[in-house]
Amino acid sequence: MTIFQLKLGYSPVRIELCNRYDIPVKADPSDGLHAAVNARDFGTCVSCGFASDRYMELAPICEFPVAAGDYVTVCRCCWQVGNLDYAAIQRSAELVWMPELTQLEINREMPELYAKRSGAEKDLAETAKRLFDIFNERRQQASIKLGANELSHLWDLVGGEGKGIYTLLPEKLDDNFRLWPLDRIIVRVGLSEYDKYPQMADYWQSNKGIFPNDSSSIALTSQDWLERLEV
Ligand SMILES: [Zn+2]
Repeated sequence: MTIFQLKLGYSPVRIELCNRYDIPVKADPSDGLHAAVNARDFGTCVSCGFASDRYMELAPICEFPVAAGDYVTVCRCCWQVGNLDYAAIQRSAELVWMPELTQLEINREMPELYAKRSGAEKDLAETAKRLFDIFNERRQQASIKLGANELSHLWDLVGGEGKGIYTLLPEKLDDNFRLWPLDRIIVRVGLSEYDKYPQMADYWQSNKGIFPNDSSSIALTSQDWLERLEV
């Protein structure tokens, strides 16, 4: 049951352009609060149903959240839908024009598709490659519909360095836009930056992770997506 509606938009606490990579720690819920909310929600995204006992996020459900009751658990993919500023800064997503698929199914399945696309299943690898080609085409379409050039990335659309980061108005993103989660989350620590995604993917594929050993489910899903997108 979906109790949390996804809407493309910026985070409630806006990131200053001069603070391009650093997370505004003061605005983040504490680790204890984070753990309490995740435990209450059984580590399950209240939006898409993705479940993991690590690497989940919190989304506020009221204007001035302070207590556990003011937050719900969401997966990283769902979280960044409402945090386009972070997704742009961390280069972890792109906007696509894709009315055929819902944001929820994209978010729910994409991490497993990334994990299994380079596995032994040749058919799945082929399907995944074709799908990602289509996602790239749709990224270009989204850019053009937003008045940018066809090679624009989310970072350019949201504002880009030196132009102010909040120039893309969420109202321009109608019901046909989706956020395409990438297999990359660039995080800055001190003066260096690293990609956080591989450690998340490794965990989901480990014994404690949530991905099934076989690829039958994601193979069916990706075939279904291809049929819907190629019509
Ligand atoms: Zn989710």
